[in-house]
Amino acid sequence: MPTVQTVRGPVNVDDLGQTLMHEHVFVVATEHLDNYGKGSWWDEEHRVADAVTKLRAVAAKGVRTIVDPTVWGLGRYIPRIQRVAEQVPELNIVVATGIYSFEELPHQYEHRGPGLFFDIPDPMIDDFVRDLTEGIADTGVKAAFLKCVVEHKGLTPGVERICRAVAQAHVRTGAPITVHTNSFAQSGLIALDLFAKEGVDLTKVVVGHAGDSNDLDYLMRLADTGATLGMDRFGLDIYNPTPQRVATIAALCGRGYADRMVLSHDAACFMDYFGGAWDEAHSTLAPNWRYDHIHDDVLAALLDSGVTDGQIEQMLVFNPKRYFS
Ligand SMILES: [Zn+2]
Repeated sequence: MPTVQTVRGPVNVDDLGQTLMHEHVFVVATEHLDNYGKGSWWDEEHRVADAVTKLRAVAAKGVRTIVDPTVWGLGRYIPRIQRVAEQVPELNIVVATGIYSFEELPHQYEHRGPGLFFDIPDPMIDDFVRDLTEGIADTGVKAAFLKCVVEHKGLTPGVERICRAVAQAHVRTGAPITVHTNSFAQSGLIALDLFAKEGVDLTKVVVGHAGDSNDLDYLMRLADTGATLGMDRFGLDIYNPTPQRVATIAALCGRGYADRMVLSHDAACFMDYFGGAWDEAHSTLAPNWRYDHIHDDVLAALLDSGVTDGQIEQMLVFNPKRYFS
């Protein structure tokens, strides 16, 4: 039986159980934290304890696994995730490798690569593969999937190189991919087209944030490639309110696409985009943007819309298991 790497080590895919496929524990850029957070808005002990409380609460509702696509550019820092994971043994946390950039290539990769000053194979691919096969830095924790971005600006030179490196790391390792997309710009199509050209198995791709769209033609075009739709921003009503997200999922289930969707919130325990005002911003701007909105509210709404228990299990259990198998 295949296993998937988690923060506490490999887990049988059969034991993933109900899985939220796109949740962050922390979005806190290390450089920003070190220079402006410490001694100011960041309290390490408080934030770790807060994360433990929130993750225990969602585990108590039946969630067994969260998949955390926090990579370079969003503040991946595995030692802090290990501290949290040790205190929530009832929940698996799966972590990622890749780069989160809407446009530019990080300077750290600017001069090394094919045709560049140091004319070598793309070092990004080696870095991603090392995270997947040997572990991230000295933590011993292996990433289990890859993450990149295609935003409204499309394939800028930086984004294109990152996406190709992610695709090649997938080809080398078989690790699945989650790509952040902009549904209003329909950039999921651009991402899947590039992945197909790079030889990616599209059944191993989640098109992140597809659920911001209610355009069934767009969503079916994505799903018909074999890719999985990330219906993954429940509670972020500014992009698409919950009733519309529910109606879109129900419509797609009615058309036979339950095997091509996964559910999540894209929530976080703390996000530095709001600095010290995170708790206030979160509770006033998006009170339902939390790990348990799906179990508290959305599942009942899906059932009321005609989605079956079997289809919910497909989206919460079987589709994540297939993605990591
Ligand atoms: Zn996210």
